[in-house]
Amino acid sequence: WQQRDLKYIWHPCSQMKDYEELPPIVIERGQGVWLYDVEGNRYLDAISSWWTNLFGHCNKRLNDALKAQADKLEHVIFANFSHKPAIELSQKLVKITPNGLEKVFFSDDGSTSVEVALKMSFQYHQQKGNYTKVKFACFTNSYHGETLGALSVGSIDLYSKIYKPIMKESIKIQGPDCFRCEYHKTRYSCNVECFEEVEKILEKHHKEICAVIIEPIIQCAGGMKIYPPKFLKLLREACTSYDVHLIADEVAVGFGRTGKMFACEHAGITPDFLCLSKGLTAGYMPLAVTLTTQEIFDAFYADYIDLKAFLHSHSYTGNPLACAVALESLKIFEEYNVLKKINEKATYLEELARETFDNHRFVGEYRQFGFIGAIELVEDKATKKEFDWRKRVGYHIYKTALKKGLLIRPLGNVIYFMPPFVIEKDEIDFMVRNTLEAINQFFGL
Ligand code: PMP
Repeated sequence: WQQRDLKYIWHPCSQMKDYEELPPIVIERGQGVWLYDVEGNRYLDAISSWWTNLFGHCNKRLNDALKAQADKLEHVIFANFSHKPAIELSQKLVKITPNGLEKVFFSDDGSTSVEVALKMSFQYHQQKGNYTKVKFACFTNSYHGETLGALSVGSIDLYSKIYKPIMKESIKIQGPDCFRCEYHKTRYSCNVECFEEVEKILEKHHKEICAVIIEPIIQCAGGMKIYPPKFLKLLREACTSYDVHLIADEVAVGFGRTGKMFACEHAGITPDFLCLSKGLTAGYMPLAVTLTTQEIFDAFYADYIDLKAFLHSHSYTGNPLACAVALESLKIFEEYNVLKKINEKATYLEELARETFDNHRFVGEYRQFGFIGAIELVEDKATKKEFDWRKRVGYHIYKTALKKGLLIRPLGNVIYFMPPFVIEKDEIDFMVRNTLEAINQFFGL
């Protein structure tokens, strides 16, 4: 299987030296938090298969919902046609997302949900006669996807540098970096001093800016960097006062990951656009939504020629199979009081992880928000000196953990936990214990 895979498939993040060392592992089946390869080895999926899976692999209820929908309708054009799963799902999403978000636009993945928000925001301002608003602002260390528009509001050079000549540059705002706080504050003494920088940029550039895009509470791909909800609250206020849209990209943190259904709830805010994907179908299939307000929706309704509808569509938009599974996933949330269970498991993980990693020589910080935990490895604990990225510390630990039956993926020198919500306590123990062993093995401890 591996040889045939290597012969025919161009995988993401492949054609690198480590791919030669570690060719793709061919997975045959999954059950709960476990993945089984064709040779019968099993791996605990501590990253929810790219942050998507919520209720375990091959979840019976989700499987049944998928099969039942497949027997009714697998797909239908979504322009001028609709179907019950999409209607029911939209109604539920409007109900559970922050107040004021009233329209749901479907697309197929996280990057595209961001593209949609960017296009809508720009077009809205054009239609309102705000012709100078032609740029977006985003934060350093942010990640919003891989399509050209989404890349243009991301700040991780690794993904975007090569494409800069064909991308429109956005305005970069220094994002909060609480572990290496410029103001030497801790989580407890923080008064969001770093927000001043945002104010300055908005004051100077608001006439050019359509929207600011942010990952609420946790910058995920940038290294699971957690910042205080108050930052988000201040950003909402500033955007409103400068007539700039706020795009909340909850592609990664939506659907319970932060302990509340949506991360914006921690700050009590409603963004102008909310982007959701990944956990929307509990990890079953591609589906994304961009939610927005009635006011923005109405700006696209026009009966005279200069003003246009939003002409953006995809072949699989609002796919019925995906909508049916997403709907079932939301029913599971309701019926099993999932948020309460997530918070209990998160507390268990945090206590165990703190006990295990807080005093570790090479752990600069263990941080956690909700059910997302991250270990930042440092060369020097006192100075927080980073490892040279060429050492590929995270990658080597990932490789060692795989041999122990644990799938954790590094983000540079950060190892993180984002397991499916169905993980049991003994599996959390396994995850933490084997991560520690893999770290110690790498450092020869
Ligand atoms: N936004 C955020 C915050 C993400 O974490 C990701 C994916 N890691 C995306 C957008 C892009 O989503 P997708 O990979 O589904 O296109």
